[in-house]
Amino acid sequence: RIKMKNKILKYSILAAIIILSIVQVGCTKELQMVSDSTYMLGTYLQLSVWTTNKQEGMDTIKSSFERIKEIENKMSTNLDESEIGQINLNAGKTYVEVSEETVDIIERAIHYAELTNGAFDPAIGKLVKLWGIGTENERIPTQDEIQNALQFVDYQKIEFQGDNKVKLSEADMRIDLGGIAKGYAADEVTKIMKNKGIKHAIINLGGNVVTLGKKADGTSWKVGIQDPFEPTGTHMGVIEVYDQTVVTSGNYERYFMADDKRYHHIIDPKTGYPAENGIISATIITNSSTDADGLSTSIYVLGVEKGMQLIESLENVECIIITEDKKVYTSTGLTERFQIIDSSFQIEN
Ligand code: AMP
Ligand code: MG
Repeated sequence: RIKMKNKILKYSILAAIIILSIVQVGCTKELQMVSDSTYMLGTYLQLSVWTTNKQEGMDTIKSSFERIKEIENKMSTNLDESEIGQINLNAGKTYVEVSEETVDIIERAIHYAELTNGAFDPAIGKLVKLWGIGTENERIPTQDEIQNALQFVDYQKIEFQGDNKVKLSEADMRIDLGGIAKGYAADEVTKIMKNKGIKHAIINLGGNVVTLGKKADGTSWKVGIQDPFEPTGTHMGVIEVYDQTVVTSGNYERYFMADDKRYHHIIDPKTGYPAENGIISATIITNSSTDADGLSTSIYVLGVEKGMQLIESLENVECIIITEDKKVYTSTGLTERFQIIDSSFQIEN
């Protein structure tokens, strides 16, 4: 019987060792980066996740891209069959029933319109179409065309009925969520990645960046701030972040040149022309990418003084503003985390 007991003991020790070593192999398995890119939402998208399971990482990226496609198919201004397309097609006519998330984003956009006194306006669609910036129809409209279009830019004339019906009160009104939808898509991708157990990731939707967790080595991410005067990928500064989003609106993203003047894609709803107040880039650092996206476009239109005032009034939101004379304005909570790496830029504050 003692022999028997010894045998059982031996086997259980052996089993324990085997189990332990399997667990150990599982734990020491190295994190590797899985990355993929594509073109959607009118821009270049890149997702990178750190995972011990390459296949799971690839699957997560695939689901993320599918989710972005879904959002684009609902919220794109350029697709007649999208929910926004349908609202626009039925402007001045009938209510259109849309999904809860589309209503949520329209309402979020209206929130920023109210906060900025209409500097941000999701009813900017007719003006955006008129300028056609980034499309084959881009041109400088006539004064008459601009005056006419301006009458139909008014977020207060977006009407809601019940939980999810939307109507534009005038036939010439058009909604355009281009200033906020990318941020929402980035937040949704972050959610998917968290749900899949990803602890470290970089979500980059055309310069709309979310950092998930810290880097695999436990340090903060360093996100480069684009130098507005140089080709994509040249940075004028670096910001250290984790579990936050860094979103920039810049005059270099989409524009055309005419008579040595740059006509870019962020339109001032007061004038009908591309915003021209000295700002050439506005970056927001905060937790929600939807908010950061709405705010970066807002600040770009508001200008340095009003923009900075707004940012300082908001909890947990920071910003970096660059003006055409290479001055850099940063909000008070940022000083420690932001570093200029090109000395031709001067901190103003
Ligand atoms: P972003 O790159 O996030 O600053 O957004 C720019 C996009 O937002 C443009 O391409 C338009 O689709 C839209 N947009 C332009 N001007 C405004 C504005 N004043 N308010 C809201 N959206 C705007
Ligand atoms: Mg934006």
